[in-house]
Amino acid sequence: MSARVLVVGGGVIGAASAYFLAARHGVRAVVFERDPTYRHASSALSASSIRQQFSTEVNIRLSQASLSFYRRIGDDLAVDGERPDIALTERGYLFLASPAGLDALRANHAVQRTCGVNVSLLEPAALQARLPWLNVEGVAAGSLGEGGEGWFDGYSVLQAFRRKATALGATFESAAVERIACDANRSAHVYCADGRRFEGDALLIAAGAWSAPLAAQLGFALPVRARKRDVFVLASPAELPGCPLVIDPGGVWFRPEGRGFIAGCPPRGDDIDDAPLEAIDHGLFEDVIWPALARRVPAFDALRVTGAWAGYYEYNTFDQNGIVGRVPGCANAFIGCGFSGHGIQQAPAVGQALAELIALGRYDTLDLVPLAPQRIIEARALRERNVI
Ligand SMILES: Cc1cc2nc3c(=O)[nH]c(=O)nc-3n(C[C@H](O)[C@H](O)[C@H](O)COP(=O)(O)OP(=O)(O)OC[C@H]3O[C@@H](n4cnc5c(N)ncnc54)[C@H](O)[C@@H]3O)c2cc1C
Repeated sequence: MSARVLVVGGGVIGAASAYFLAARHGVRAVVFERDPTYRHASSALSASSIRQQFSTEVNIRLSQASLSFYRRIGDDLAVDGERPDIALTERGYLFLASPAGLDALRANHAVQRTCGVNVSLLEPAALQARLPWLNVEGVAAGSLGEGGEGWFDGYSVLQAFRRKATALGATFESAAVERIACDANRSAHVYCADGRRFEGDALLIAAGAWSAPLAAQLGFALPVRARKRDVFVLASPAELPGCPLVIDPGGVWFRPEGRGFIAGCPPRGDDIDDAPLEAIDHGLFEDVIWPALARRVPAFDALRVTGAWAGYYEYNTFDQNGIVGRVPGCANAFIGCGFSGHGIQQAPAVGQALAELIALGRYDTLDLVPLAPQRIIEARALRERNVI
């Protein structure tokens, strides 16, 4: 293997990039991960769902390419005959719109159809006929994915990328990175808290919600913050045949998980930075989620909360989209973060694209120029309307 890429952060973005660098370009990555148990990593705390119902073409293309990868992950990431199983369940997303949200739903639908997404815009009566357990009161229309959307086991995806990347020559160092630098001679440097120093040909910042302080060391003000999101685990005897991931007009979402369900919604009030993950907002369930669920699905009347967890969105405060590409002003430093709740579904396509940019100097399969960090410096926002 020729070049060496130093990757800071061994979550799904770092691990996928390391895999594609080795598998497609023969480039060896050294991945630095400060916590190999991934206790606080977003990739381990994700709801791990995948959709094509976005409002921007680049997000749709990223999820389409990633879905294709997830469908064949057992082949591509097998190691010594052991095929990873990520329990991909393709059951669709259902976005419900109130009369006030109908125009936006229609506009999104038009973009999605242009990109070949198999999605149906359904009137309340048609929705009711398809999903008899759903109360369509207050709903003007619903957008139902007919294929290519669902959920999977995100932690298994992370481990599969890590294992396969390692089998192909990448190394994962258990170390916290304190300082990074790139110099004019195109060499990159990583300084670890344990005193070790590494040199490589390029550097990739893939530190999720913790990427901004690293980018600042390269002179780039990255607008990514750690924003807590709570997920509630629910037990219910309700039978909801064909239940997709449902997003209520107010932002409450739920989907089947095992024999029960999980649910969540955006936080109430200010979306503050770095809120402690232990501080689950149980009032959010009582005051916001439960009333929405009870109204939308009458069969949820006997539902109970059996658990909850929280993780950080690596939240892009500028335009809620991934920030992928070369760090402005640095020839050999790259970044992949800021996905604001849709990073694990896009990780395969993002990892593949970053590997191309680093190894070839250009995108080959998917053009991610619209997600370039440069757009932040030029104040050109690429807004995604469908952020959950
Ligand atoms: C509750 C919740 C629900 C979600 N639901 C979905 C969903 O349904 N679909 C979807 O697509 N996405 C979802 N996401 C988002 C998705 O999980 C993330 O976008 C994705 O996991 C980000 O991966 P990452 O590798 O960038 O970050 P991470 O997984 O956080 O990895 C970054 C790693 O960098 C390490 N690190 C940080 N700083 C340093 C340092 N200085 N030195 C060494 N290591 C360092 C960290 O320890 C961490 O392991 C959800 C997220 C949450 C929290």
